Amino acid sequence: MSTHPAMVIIGAGQCGARTAHALRENGWDGEITLLGNECTAPYDRPPLSKAVLLGERSTAQCAFYDEAFYRDRRIDLRVDACVQKIDRGARKVILKDGRSIDYQRLLIATGAEPRRLDVPGANLEGVYLLRTADDANALAEALQPSRRIAIVGAGFIGLEVAASAVARGCEVVVIEAGARALMRAVPEIVAGYLIDRHREMGVKIHFAAQIERLLGTTHVTGVKLKDGTQIACDCVVVGIGVKPRTELAEAAGIDVADGIAVDDTLRTNDPHIFAAGDVCSFPHRLFRRRMRLECWKNAEDHARIVARNMLERGETYSEVPWFWSNQYDMTIQIAGMPAFGVQTVVRETGATSRIFFALDRDGVLVGASGVGKLAEIARDVRVAQALIAQRACIEPAKLEDPAVKLKSLVAAEAA
Ligand code: NAP
Repeated sequence: MSTHPAMVIIGAGQCGARTAHALRENGWDGEITLLGNECTAPYDRPPLSKAVLLGERSTAQCAFYDEAFYRDRRIDLRVDACVQKIDRGARKVILKDGRSIDYQRLLIATGAEPRRLDVPGANLEGVYLLRTADDANALAEALQPSRRIAIVGAGFIGLEVAASAVARGCEVVVIEAGARALMRAVPEIVAGYLIDRHREMGVKIHFAAQIERLLGTTHVTGVKLKDGTQIACDCVVVGIGVKPRTELAEAAGIDVADGIAVDDTLRTNDPHIFAAGDVCSFPHRLFRRRMRLECWKNAEDHARIVARNMLERGETYSEVPWFWSNQYDMTIQIAGMPAFGVQTVVRETGATSRIFFALDRDGVLVGASGVGKLAEIARDVRVAQALIAQRACIEPAKLEDPAVKLKSLVAAEAA
């Protein structure tokens, strides 16, 4: 064992970088090593599908911290470190170049890998993924006015890229395998509301569409669906979900269950090893089930808590999930887990703004999706977050009536 107590973090993404920062903020004075393999310092991903594609921000401007930040806090950031394995017995991380790093506590924050299309033609030129800064730069270059863009997947990546591509003057077609958009994120009525806006903006959408192959010889020229439909295009963007990067953990014999399985303190079955962010699945007290979240807020919350638990504070994680998206002039804010609801109640908060509340079988508020103008949804979504944290049961008539202040319901519940 090293004589220097060390915290080692595998994964220099948002969760890894924030954890390194939080370890120092919480008084850790020993070594901190942050290992990444993207050859760039940790950066914020949400702008990649929006401001970067619109040419409003460079990927360099998305960096979380500058060099001085890491130097001043003695965080040893290595951006070209490829980890080969974790030796749990010796408590060492072994790098591909043969070097090893001892750890006292290890965090695995390796995030998730975009799924690739598995059809003939998927490797043609002009087929893009969007996960990294390099991906965003390449795609931004491709989104030239009048280009025909075929987007595969009507999830968050697909719909945000569609909105950005429309703003860049492209013609956009979205091809989705499921019967509707955002199947795992929001109820049908919410997805329908968003899709209506995309259609108004000229986006063509194919649901329940199976891709047979991508067409072209060297560069993609179209998409052929299994029903024979052919969609001509100049490029294809694939946004069909992600899978957690669990290989290192699995090879080290760490439990995996739809992501690295951690307890509610984010500790794995090895007491010296933690996992956080997109890569882990954790039991959530509020929703009474194990879940894995792929979003910005979860990476922030996990980082704050896992840093403290690496310092043996024993805190449990029970934050209410929160997502946001921007598409055209619409803001979408989602609190809780709307997909766990069985009933949706709609509150109109403005001419084109709505909050969609999701209630579970027992009438418990489990999610709220605000869609519309930021100023007309943000406050209610924030209050809904507090109600979800209380597992509030609220009469649908009150949720639906804009004259009933949501805040008054929090007070009633707390009383
Ligand atoms: P996603 O939200 O999981 O959506 C992927 C969509 O593609 C799903 O509707 C999926 O349908 C569909 N699909 C899967 N295979 C397909 C195929 N072969 N052909 C056509 N459609 C197919 O994933 P994503 O949009 O790729 O985003 C990746 C990750 O980044 C997600 O975790 C997402 O939450 C995150 N992200 C978040 C934000 C935000 O918070 N604002 C923005 C961008 C990205 P099924 O559900 O039926 O599989």
